[in-house]
Amino acid sequence: MAKSKVTIGQVFKTIIWPRKKLLFIGLILIFISRAAGLVPPWATKPFLDDILVKKELDKLPMLLTFLAAAILVQAVTSFLLTKLLSVEAQHLISVLRSRVQKHLLRLPIRFFDNQKSGALVSRVMNDVEGVRNLVGTGLVQLIGGILTAVISIGFLININPLMTLFVLLPMSIFGVITMKAFSVIRPVFRERGKITAEVTGRLTETLNGVRVIKGFNAEPQEIKVFEEGVEKLFQNVKKSLTSTSLVTSSGTFLVGLASVGIMGLSGHFNLSAGDFLQFTMFMVFMIAPIVQMSNIGSQLTEAFAGLDRTEELMNMPVEDDSTVRTINIGTINGELVYNNVSFAYEEGKNVLNDVSFTAHAGTVTALVGTSGSGKTTIAGLAASFLNPASGTITVDGVDMTKISLNSYRSQLGVVLQDDFLFEGTIRENILFPRPSSTNEELLRAVKAAYVDEFTDRFENGLDTVIGERGVKLSGGQRQRIAIARAILANPRVLILDEATSNLDTESESFIQESLKSLMHGRTTFVIAHRLSTIRQADQILVVESGQIVERGRHQDLIEKKGRYFELYTYQARI
Ligand code: ADP
Repeated sequence: MAKSKVTIGQVFKTIIWPRKKLLFIGLILIFISRAAGLVPPWATKPFLDDILVKKELDKLPMLLTFLAAAILVQAVTSFLLTKLLSVEAQHLISVLRSRVQKHLLRLPIRFFDNQKSGALVSRVMNDVEGVRNLVGTGLVQLIGGILTAVISIGFLININPLMTLFVLLPMSIFGVITMKAFSVIRPVFRERGKITAEVTGRLTETLNGVRVIKGFNAEPQEIKVFEEGVEKLFQNVKKSLTSTSLVTSSGTFLVGLASVGIMGLSGHFNLSAGDFLQFTMFMVFMIAPIVQMSNIGSQLTEAFAGLDRTEELMNMPVEDDSTVRTINIGTINGELVYNNVSFAYEEGKNVLNDVSFTAHAGTVTALVGTSGSGKTTIAGLAASFLNPASGTITVDGVDMTKISLNSYRSQLGVVLQDDFLFEGTIRENILFPRPSSTNEELLRAVKAAYVDEFTDRFENGLDTVIGERGVKLSGGQRQRIAIARAILANPRVLILDEATSNLDTESESFIQESLKSLMHGRTTFVIAHRLSTIRQADQILVVESGQIVERGRHQDLIEKKGRYFELYTYQARI
């Protein structure tokens, strides 16, 4: 993936500027809140000098009322600030997550071949979290902090300019240290997101593959890999902790240093007790936001690092590029023609060579051949998951690479090995590609795929929950649900990867029947393992090392006594 670096300008334009109204209100609120916050340090002088020393007690009620009001204003404004900005920040996070997920789903299948799904989950969910600090209170606090610091400096100069200079000097040193630290931290944060994604990805895989891991007694290996992952994460956090703690400690140290100096100087300048206390208070009010800013700075750095990673993903080209795929194909007949199609997953290593054939509308093309010969790739091309490296594939005479994927795939159906069923009811699993289907349509599909044969025996019928929290289905039952789903979708072109697993004879005959209803009248590409399917196919393509070495119908190929005959005679299953 190409590295992206998000600039402040981009963030300002896309994230901050569209929320200018809200942030403006936020700024007003922070201004009020900070101004109110400065009342207590200011009040120390009249309290000490006038009321305690000069005993002007009549001033006390006024001062106390003023103080109480300021504290109340501060409380109310901070509450409003949090409510307004934190909510907006969370809203932005959900908007961004949706946007990233949407983009992710528009990326080509090839992208997913090379990614861990757990890592992608982490990118969608975690990487955008940081913007909370941009829109939320982080940014506003940063500005509020600067504001408080500036006003405090004004007060400080008013009390004693030379002493102020004495405070500002260590603070400038602190500023330089902070800036330096953040330039070190940003790449560390950026790396952290990557490591988190890796570790999460591996953990997800471990949990998904727990049967294989236990079956091979490979737990120690997985434990080791995970330990290494979390150690890497720890090292990363340690690195950033060192930098941030350097910032905080140097802050404390320099503040201490300034305080000692101030004590000495106030003796030298013969300050009144009130002036001394007021000076110290304002100094704290100037320094506190600067130290706090260093925290906010690390939050903002984290936000930028997350946005960098998000941007990387968002910059990846989507598969359905409307400037290239301009043709909206409308309802198709479903004639697919492969003209001298070659394909390579990796540059220079062709897995298909000069494949040419015609799949007439409504016919069944069976792809047979040994494992790795290229059957899945031929089917993947028909599904437009892949694009030919050379040659063309046409759908009803139109070049497939020019057709809008949306218009083509809405007429496509796929039934794959280990078909994807998610947690939910059987009904939801069948309905998911066509949620608006009527109940009659659903029941027709259920019948045609013999799903009712087993759901009738369940207490909740089609509303039985399957998956981790529900019933476990047999392989044959899962396949029938996948077939019902495809029947309901009513595609013109169908890609079928027959399961290789042996089923009991009863399930087998149900599946054969349901496949027959599914394939009927649709242009079907089937990676065939069942003899019954192959026998019924309108054409059989025998694929070997990425080429079609034989083609024809079952009987003709048997009589030819060539490669198909060999496969058929020497292997129990093709
Ligand atoms: P079949 O379906 O006949 O078993 P495939 O079409 O899956 O064969 O694979 C054809 C060749 O392409 C094999 O050599 C396989 O290793 C290679 N291949 C398949 N998928 C990928 C991929 N995503 N990346 C790289 N090579 C692949």
